[in-house]
Amino acid sequence: MTHPVEFDQITAERPELASVEAEYDKLRAAWDAADGLDARLSVVKAWDALTTQLETWMSLTHLRFHQDTRDPEANAARDFADEIEPKLTRLAVDVKRAILSSPHRAELEEALGGQAFVLWEADAAAFEPKLQDDLVLENKLNAEYVALKAAARVTIQGEEVTLAQVPRFASAPERAVRQEAAEALWGWAEGAQHHLDRIYADMVQVRTRQARALGHETYTPLGYLKMQRSGYTAEDVARFRRQIVERVVPVAAKLSARQAETLGVDPLMVWDEAIFDPSGNPKPAGDHDWMLDRAVEMFDRMGEPLASFFRMMNDGGFLDLKAREGKAGGGFCTSFPSYGTPFIFANFNGTKNDVEVFTHEAGHAFQNWMSRSIEPSCYHWPTYEACEIHSMSLEFLTWPHMELFFGDDAERFRQVHLTGAVLFLPYGACVDHFQHWVYANPDATTQERRNAWSELEATYMPWRKWGHLDHPATGARWHLQTHIFTYPFYYIDYALAQACALQFWDQSQRDPKDALERYVALCSKGGSGAFLELVDAAGLRSPFEDGCLDAVMERVEAALGL
Ligand code: ZN
Repeated sequence: MTHPVEFDQITAERPELASVEAEYDKLRAAWDAADGLDARLSVVKAWDALTTQLETWMSLTHLRFHQDTRDPEANAARDFADEIEPKLTRLAVDVKRAILSSPHRAELEEALGGQAFVLWEADAAAFEPKLQDDLVLENKLNAEYVALKAAARVTIQGEEVTLAQVPRFASAPERAVRQEAAEALWGWAEGAQHHLDRIYADMVQVRTRQARALGHETYTPLGYLKMQRSGYTAEDVARFRRQIVERVVPVAAKLSARQAETLGVDPLMVWDEAIFDPSGNPKPAGDHDWMLDRAVEMFDRMGEPLASFFRMMNDGGFLDLKAREGKAGGGFCTSFPSYGTPFIFANFNGTKNDVEVFTHEAGHAFQNWMSRSIEPSCYHWPTYEACEIHSMSLEFLTWPHMELFFGDDAERFRQVHLTGAVLFLPYGACVDHFQHWVYANPDATTQERRNAWSELEATYMPWRKWGHLDHPATGARWHLQTHIFTYPFYYIDYALAQACALQFWDQSQRDPKDALERYVALCSKGGSGAFLELVDAAGLRSPFEDGCLDAVMERVEAALGL
């Protein structure tokens, strides 16, 4: 592992397939000739070094495309990456299969940890060379969706803005501005609806075709394998969603009734949902640069290892947080594993969301940083539901320092943040339920998909009122939910993780020092265990366990005065 560097110094040569194949041939020969455990482990190490180099290049290529989706060079590089990725997957899966079928597997598992084998089994089961063309096609459809949204411009209050900048208006204290923002946003989606429906129909088709080529009836089991989920099934997830309907939806309904009362609106329309006080949501008291200074102060106060982690990120330029023309929307954290450094991408828009997105992505980055030296590198990140514990918990563990950003409004921020955490759970379950429906019914028409969403929305968010916004009112809310398009089945992860993060929140109310220590310990484990193993090791209850959500919700209700 190299020492921390500046982002500008990070380079990754574009791989030539022929030379990568030659490297793999050498690895294969070395593996076949390896005599004894040490020799086999050194082949695994050499393979891992090659993997991290390729991953660093892949991360950098995707990051540059997201930083400027209009840049022809970044687009060409992304196209090349989309083309070559399935070929690299084929080479990697061959090595994984060789390790998995080794007669020495038991001692290899002993040395490398069982979780690597769980992950590799999933990867091997999810891939066959015959899928390569469809995987390339799927990559291209993902890029098409990202670029379509990044190119969108809407006009609000006479100002032309990108979709990533809409939340600033959508949470304005003036109701007319919020309504105008909702009309502009959904007007854009309505105009693009045929394009969006076509992309999604193609995605569902290409994913289902891959699943069937592997002998599955639908994409769902393949989707779970691609998410490398283990220790629980789609039935467990369905039970978890039912718990949300029974235990969380009634609380969320009460919270939105209270929100309507506080705002003095009746009924609460969808454009009121982002705001919790007639005077507006708490707002960070300064701009982007000011916020970064406050963040340095905050992490310093939280002590080591968070303090030096964040200084490394800030001093090294591993943050791209400002919204700008051509930049893709959303926020994410990626990493350059051959250097051991993470990177945070976000779109600040001057609202409280900036603080939430930032503490969230910083949680991912911190975990990756703490895990950077674990071998093999497949442990640098856990599976996504576990990843989201790190991010969502840091959102809560930074609570005592929110005065730095919000001043006298900090307590109000904490209440709104907790309220938002509850309101999110039904939405998260709805997005997940919808995807299970979509892939169970791959031949559904556009209209049937809209109907399915509408029905689920009525179950999970019975308070939602779209008013005259005809497009989302007819079941098209999901058109703007990126994960549904580009990361199939990645969503319940947030709800599962929230059930864990709220336990960290609860612990931190009683003993902040202990909660933070346990959090750091969890982050240091990286992905060396499966989701439920990590949850257990952190002293948390499994969200699938009966009564877990109930216990969490009791504490939340008390804190929100319900
Ligand atoms: Zn996240």
